[in-house]
Amino acid sequence: MHPKTYLRTFISILLLNVSPYSKAELPVLGDPTQQELTPYREHLMGNQFYRTIKASVPFVTDLEVNDYMTNLGQKLISHSSQPDKKIRIFVIKVANINAFAGPDANIGFHTGLIISAKNESELAGVMAHEISHVTQRHLARAMTESNVNPATMFATILAGILVASQNPEAGAAIIYGGSAALMQSQINFTRANEHEADRIGIAVLTDAGINPEGMAGFFETLLQKSETDNIIAKMEYLRTHPLSTTRIAEARNRITPKDRHLPDDSLDFQLMRARILVEMSNSAQQLINQIEQFNADKVNLVSQYTLGIAYIKNKQTDKAIRLLSEISQSNSHPWIELALADAYRAAEKDSLALTTLKKLNTLFPNYLPVSIRYAESLISAKQSEEAISLLNLQLRTKKQPIVYNTLAKAYFSKGQTSLALEATSYEYELEGYTNLAIQQINNALRQPELNKLTIQRLESRKQELHLQIQKQRKESRG
Ligand SMILES: [Zn+2]
Repeated sequence: MHPKTYLRTFISILLLNVSPYSKAELPVLGDPTQQELTPYREHLMGNQFYRTIKASVPFVTDLEVNDYMTNLGQKLISHSSQPDKKIRIFVIKVANINAFAGPDANIGFHTGLIISAKNESELAGVMAHEISHVTQRHLARAMTESNVNPATMFATILAGILVASQNPEAGAAIIYGGSAALMQSQINFTRANEHEADRIGIAVLTDAGINPEGMAGFFETLLQKSETDNIIAKMEYLRTHPLSTTRIAEARNRITPKDRHLPDDSLDFQLMRARILVEMSNSAQQLINQIEQFNADKVNLVSQYTLGIAYIKNKQTDKAIRLLSEISQSNSHPWIELALADAYRAAEKDSLALTTLKKLNTLFPNYLPVSIRYAESLISAKQSEEAISLLNLQLRTKKQPIVYNTLAKAYFSKGQTSLALEATSYEYELEGYTNLAIQQINNALRQPELNKLTIQRLESRKQELHLQIQKQRKESRG
């Protein structure tokens, strides 16, 4: 088969072979003769980028990890040239080292990259670099300035990311094979763009009060590793972000002596990394053995926390409760208490979990990882009414899919099906599934004994969603 035909067939298989959800929303990809990339079209592409990856690769759903990553992203963007830009940061469970910025500020991280980062400044360095690709509109500019139409380029990028996240060798074949290689080289990874992303990224980091040395440090480690270990297949990042000693030296030279004194780590980063380490470990027992062996003195909080959550994963709940209670007495970090609550729930000590979460909710009101856990505990304890008011309060500041998802569970548990379906429709809308959101509203309207006011509200929401679909169709037709 001609490489071009092969690639096209391959991409269409990739895009269709995901889930019925993304199939239903496919038209957004648009007319391949349409060259112009309007902000709205880019937004739709961003949604499709996110949905397709989500349907194809496992995401990290851990509340603490997602909250940490989103907050770090928001902190960095708020110090960029587009402080109000909405970004979506997600973490996928893939061991090879990669991070990528898709259309409309959809930025993905592999767990492999997060585990490889030694401290917060290294991770923030990569994130600031990706965010700078977004604020400098490298991808969008490549899409409009190249002679390849945006829809084809978009599909190529997506295919590259998907294949690389599941199978590095196949990813390499797609990227290096035939026309795709040409296209890929025209996209966002020109030397000039990389330099610009480094330079702007360093300014963002220092402005945000994070030591910018981490960026060069992390790149240096990757480059050294690739030269000595010959494990380039595990480092997709090097393929998509060509590094050289000159580029790293230049990044280092841009750092002023005063910036070298900025903090380079945080306890939150280390605890977040520990959560990923445990989640990604194939054998919790092995991880436990390692920590117990090397950390007999029990002074290191991070390794004790890692041990505690590894015990939960390994179903040694008594040990987990003992250890986490012990470390929570001398360290007041909400994540330690949250892990303790998780251990109580795993041990089926639900009332202890509820008490712990109630206390945490008073200390950290409106803090997403606490609100969601507490709401879930309240639902299990048949106190859904309280969960509902807690979640509605959360929605005033953070309209995140997970909040609507939990709210739907709370309504379902009370038998308030139409309200549950309405909440789910908001969840789908935020995830970019407009058709599915309408379906939920239709289902809600079919519920018996709806009052007039509810019917009116549901109908007007349905109309609003239909208008969105019309706008999307119009845009994809050009
Ligand atoms: Zn880059």
